[in-house]
Amino acid sequence: MRTSKEYLEKLAGMRKNIYLHGQVIGRDHPIVVARSKAIQLTFDLANDSKFSDLLTVSSHISDKKINRFTHIHQNSEDLLKKQEMTRKLCNLTGGCIQRCMGCDAMNALSVATKNADLRYGTDYHDRWLKYLAFFQENDLVASCAQTDAKGDRSLRPGEQADPDQYVHVVERREDGVVVRGAKLHNTMSPYADEIIVIPTRALTGTEQDYAIAFAIPADAEGVYLVGREGYFSKREPGMEAPIGEYGDIESFTVFDNVFVPNERIFLNGETDIGGGLALYFALYHRHSYTGCKPGTGDVLLGTTALMADYLGIEKMGHVREKLSEMISVCELVYAAGIAASIKSTKAPSGTQIPNVIYANVGRRHAGHNIYHEYNTLCDIAGGLPATLPLSSEYNSPVVGNFVRKYVSRRDGVSAENHYRAAHLASDLLTSEFATILQIAGVHGGGSPIMEDIAIMGSYDLNTKKSLAKYLAGIKED
Ligand SMILES: Cc1cc2nc3c(=O)[nH]c(=O)nc-3n(C[C@H](O)[C@H](O)[C@H](O)COP(=O)(O)OP(=O)(O)OC[C@H]3O[C@@H](n4cnc5c(N)ncnc54)[C@H](O)[C@@H]3O)c2cc1C
Repeated sequence: MRTSKEYLEKLAGMRKNIYLHGQVIGRDHPIVVARSKAIQLTFDLANDSKFSDLLTVSSHISDKKINRFTHIHQNSEDLLKKQEMTRKLCNLTGGCIQRCMGCDAMNALSVATKNADLRYGTDYHDRWLKYLAFFQENDLVASCAQTDAKGDRSLRPGEQADPDQYVHVVERREDGVVVRGAKLHNTMSPYADEIIVIPTRALTGTEQDYAIAFAIPADAEGVYLVGREGYFSKREPGMEAPIGEYGDIESFTVFDNVFVPNERIFLNGETDIGGGLALYFALYHRHSYTGCKPGTGDVLLGTTALMADYLGIEKMGHVREKLSEMISVCELVYAAGIAASIKSTKAPSGTQIPNVIYANVGRRHAGHNIYHEYNTLCDIAGGLPATLPLSSEYNSPVVGNFVRKYVSRRDGVSAENHYRAAHLASDLLTSEFATILQIAGVHGGGSPIMEDIAIMGSYDLNTKKSLAKYLAGIKED
């Protein structure tokens, strides 16, 4: 396993291909080092004995101790542990832990590559197993690039006026393929070692060029990472807080005629398996959401309760009802993830697959409530998070006293603690990163309709209709 220092040293040696704030920068740029803090934590805690049970596991291929984010789930217990780890890490960062993407993509590939081999006699699974050995041995961090630009949503990939709206093969060579297109809204590609590319949707038989899955170093020739930074607000020295250390970089990940060698290609033209792979990734990712949404929900809940306490309204009936509502959302989503883990099944590859219904209803419930949770914090915190003077004014020799005096609410709590709590609420409601997390809470893992499609595609509604007929005494239609 690597340390965070080794991870950063590796990044520093990569080709500069990040386009951010009008510059092209490398991974040793202070912004990239700062924004990769959540990923650094996944290394630090894996090497910390207090967290090793959650963050490490024995590899099923080498028996060696590995970081859980590089693991392929072998049983229900693995799925439960991933969920618990995700919630814990989101608690500690106040936001998204980000490394789940690569883990979910690798698990989806483990299932789909085997399915392809069984159906078509290909050798994708062996290729992928070799890549997995390399991935685990080097404790790699991968982003997952699934979401294509997609152009006109009413048209299929093969029908777009511009074929590059979906990543596709533009040249087939003896030693590999050349691909072109862009994957949008990519979390943490700018500080990933590798980018794993998979199809975004179901494909028809004529869309073979779009049925392509592969892994590529994030600095490969022809890869452009056009970034956008997310961060909680900056604090003056003396007013630092743990949450202020975290953030992320999202990117438009552009593949401008990128060569992918055969050994890194895990699907190439099998359209039915391509659609299946898209669904498996979505399923693993929605299961991850049953850990991360309760994790970020805990942060919103705790901040709401703290603000209510400092305002002197914590015991009021309407506040307790709202807190109870927030608890119900967090714990129901988490419970759905637990059910999805316990009711999981084994794929022919031996990989454990979360239950489709429970993972999807959990993710659906989280997405439907995301703005409601923020609304409750906003309600209880009052207008202060939007107007709170920054820590430069808190420390001002002229107006600092006014800030401290008028930010204070009740006796028994220092002005500094009142200020810190309000700053946290402000970070969660108004910062650049907060708004990214809100939109991710709706669209991450697929737009809300996608969960409805997954639920309605798998749920046995006829059994429920038969039950209704039985109770109604209907013998035949
Ligand atoms: C912060 C953030 C981080 C993300 N990180 C990643 C990542 O790391 N990797 C990754 O691959 N993706 C990532 N995503 C992408 C996410 O999965 C997509 O945003 C999501 O799948 C929706 O796709 P879209 O953004 O293209 O929206 P659209 O597809 O444009 O959806 C907009 C609306 O159009 C509707 N719509 C779309 N197509 C149709 C249709 N054919 N018929 C009817 N209605 C339609 C949708 O239901 C939705 O209501 C991230 C997204 C966010 C916001």
